[in-house]
Amino acid sequence: MIAPTRLKIARKRRGLTLTALAKSTSISSRTLSAYENGEWLPPPESLRTIADILDFPIQFFHGDELDEIPEDSVSFRAATKMSARQRDAALSAGRVAFMFDRWIAERFDLPAPSVPTLTRYDPEAAAATLRARWGLGERPIRNTVHLVEAHGIRVYSLPADTKSLDAFSLNWRGQPYIFLNTEKSGERGRFDVAHELGHLVMHGEHVVPHGPEVEAQANAFAAAFLMPRASVVAQGLRHPTVPQILDAKSIWRVSALALTHRLHELGLLTDWGYRNTCVHLARLGYKTDEPDGIPREASLLHSKVLQGLRDEGIGVKSSAGSLSINVDDLRSYLFGLTLTMA
Ligand SMILES: [Zn+2]
Repeated sequence: MIAPTRLKIARKRRGLTLTALAKSTSISSRTLSAYENGEWLPPPESLRTIADILDFPIQFFHGDELDEIPEDSVSFRAATKMSARQRDAALSAGRVAFMFDRWIAERFDLPAPSVPTLTRYDPEAAAATLRARWGLGERPIRNTVHLVEAHGIRVYSLPADTKSLDAFSLNWRGQPYIFLNTEKSGERGRFDVAHELGHLVMHGEHVVPHGPEVEAQANAFAAAFLMPRASVVAQGLRHPTVPQILDAKSIWRVSALALTHRLHELGLLTDWGYRNTCVHLARLGYKTDEPDGIPREASLLHSKVLQGLRDEGIGVKSSAGSLSINVDDLRSYLFGLTLTMA
């Protein structure tokens, strides 16, 4: 017996349409579709061909059924630029990562989620409330990944083939997750964590609203959460110069542009000053990158988990084997989050 939904998730995980898979397997898309819907059972030879092309161990298809992540349970930034194929690839990658997550949750005592639902709050108030609930005061946040992990949110890396996305987050059966593009600068990575945290806190658990307004709210939350009003005002940054901004951004470990935007939002930069600063920063290379940036944040949870597994003599290879996925797939979910993945 095989689980038809696993065929579909594996295909989408590889970013393939039925037509594309039909071409590379020489099995008609009508037949493939029947396999995926459980109408027909693939003969062993066909299953082997499909597994080879999709680069999944054949045992993967013999596991329990996996329900797909509904596409409307996630708010993607720049959703207009994203194709359905890319979205499916990201969600299917997420679905496979959940298998690993459940597997480690059964073996380790991991922090339980403590993420309040603040759907009626505006972003500024939601950020302040969350800071208060988590006992953060107005202090800058040293490591956003460690912080959210300590509050029961699980952080994974977007696999390389879905890196056209910035990040995404969702609640899956009461467990909040954040998936990060770990190839961006350290500052932008932190902003992405805070942005996704905003979605998790403000945008409900069951129906996630979509669109530019929701994305703007998550950005506003991120700015307020990383750079609390009182903390910024206390620095006396009224009409700051570019060198002052470049100096001050290290206090909150944010990008120069994020701080500039926040200063403008708080009335510490005029419209004119804001525009000039943005132009100046773009000329210095801060629009697309962070020239003197901080290192990316790593996951504390995954380092501990991998160490714990190693102590039991379980390497990444045998972890992947237990889940019937290949080792590169497993590594891709931890890429950029952990240093050692032997
Ligand atoms: Zn978003």
